[in-house]
Formats: sequence, structure tokens, C-alpha cells
Amino acid sequence: MRAIYVHGGVSGTPKAPVPLGGAVHAGMRSGSAIDAIQAAVMALEDDPALNAGYGATLTRDGRIELDAGIAAGGHSGAVAGVRVRNPIVLARRVLEDTPHVLIAGRGATLLGADLPVLEDTTPEQRETWQRGNRSGALADEHYGDPDYVDTVGAVALDDSGRLAAGSSTGGVFGKLPGRVGDSPIFGAGFYASDLVAVVGTGVGELFIATQASFRVAHLVENGADPQTACEQIVGFIAARGPVAAAGLLALDRDGRAGMAFRGGSWSVEGPDGPVEATRLA
Ligand code: ASP
Repeated sequence: MRAIYVHGGVSGTPKAPVPLGGAVHAGMRSGSAIDAIQAAVMALEDDPALNAGYGATLTRDGRIELDAGIAAGGHSGAVAGVRVRNPIVLARRVLEDTPHVLIAGRGATLLGADLPVLEDTTPEQRETWQRGNRSGALADEHYGDPDYVDTVGAVALDDSGRLAAGSSTGGVFGKLPGRVGDSPIFGAGFYASDLVAVVGTGVGELFIATQASFRVAHLVENGADPQTACEQIVGFIAARGPVAAAGLLALDRDGRAGMAFRGGSWSVEGPDGPVEATRLA
């Protein structure tokens, strides 16, 4: 594996950095870019501190509904509203074992019938939900509040020059049951072609509306360097309205990484350890 960059979700208010080295190492030990994405994202999904897999935030009615997407070479697979422990595994199954790109609901449950079910989220997430339920913070008018926006993702480049991207999330705190975010939408929350891999984090509705990951990729595919492209598209998203937190991470086939965000903090790590993403005003 030549390079992998992983992130632990952007937050509106500054947070202590989340250690992500385990996920980077899991990815770097893999042979292909897509294996690296699966291994890294599984490690992130198993981390109780992150809003994906085990540490997922809950829906407004207190249930677990997870989204994930994975892509390589312009092909993608994704699942929405699932309850398996590692949704990225199921997303990859959609990519490799079905003629589809996104499977939700009962069909996704059937496709993942042999995978371990996520019985519950962490006690901390349950408590956050209970507090929110008591205080009214789950209501529409608080949707997308900065503290509650964070997901996980990764981009990888292997020794054969193949790129891959993956994203996984519990979604945004206060989401309605059945709400699907950007993490399983190719071009919105993740994207990978032969030239560039991209993942995003922030309130998914905005990433879908702006096709943010595709926009970054389009710039890189037309000659921009990944850093410039990420900065430009974070600025583009922000120009659409008030954005408390949004981050974009990209990797091109030359191994050049770019990352930019708005908000309080964003933990990103690469092969050489934590990386300081450019924070835009
Ligand atoms: N993008 C995710 C979603 O909207 C949330 C996040 O990035 O934290 O579901």
C-alpha cells in the first residue's frame, strides 16, 4: 500500500484530536486500495469514539440506522439504514456481488443476513440521545448543530496505482427515521475514479445538494491539485449558506493528498501520522 488517509469526522466546536493510527495501520497492511479502505473503515467503525458502526448516533426515535459507501475506479456500492456492525463490508458486497449501487432497508438486511448485527450503540451515545430527547435538541430547528456532525472515511492509493474511497456513518443527530445522508451517495459523500479518490464530512443534505465529492474530483481530473480542489469546494459549499462544519479529503494517483474544512476541528491521519487539515474561515 502506498498511501492511506483516514478521518474521524469534522466537528463544529473544537474537540481533542481523535487517535486514528490504528485505522491507518490496518489500511497500510492491506494489498489493494479497496482492501485498505475496508480494513481502515472497519477499524473506525469499531472505535466507540466515532460516529459510525458501534459509536453511531441515533435517529430521532432512538434507533440505529447506518449508512456506508465504498468506491474504486468509478464503481461504487453503498447501503443505507442498516444495522450491521460493519456497514462498509455490506457496501462492498453491493459493489462486488450485485448489479446495483445502493441497497436500503429490507434488501440490505437480507444481503447482510450473515453479518454480525449491531446490538446497540455506546452508553455515551444513548445518554446523548436521552439528554437531547429531554431538552428538545432532537427537534428540526436544532438539526445539524455543530457538535453532532461527525462521520468517518478514508482514501487510499495502492502500489498498482489504484485508488479507492469509503465512508461510514450513523448520520446526523436528530435525523428522522429513514433519513439517508451523503455517505452512501456516490459523488456526494464519496467518490473514486482512476484519477482521484474523495470523501466528505458534514451535514449530508448539503453535500448531496452540492455534489461536493464529485466537484472536488472534477477539479482534480481537470488538473487541479487535491489541496486547491478541496479548499475551493469547501468554499463553494459555504457560499450556499451558513455551514458550521464541513470537510473534504482527496488523494490523487500521484499520492498527493488535500484536505480542507470549516468548523472547530477535524482529525485526519496519513501514513506519517496526524495531518493538519487547512481550516477555512
Ligand atoms: N455526512 C454525514 C451525514 O450527513 C454526517 C457526518 O459527516 O458526520 O450523514
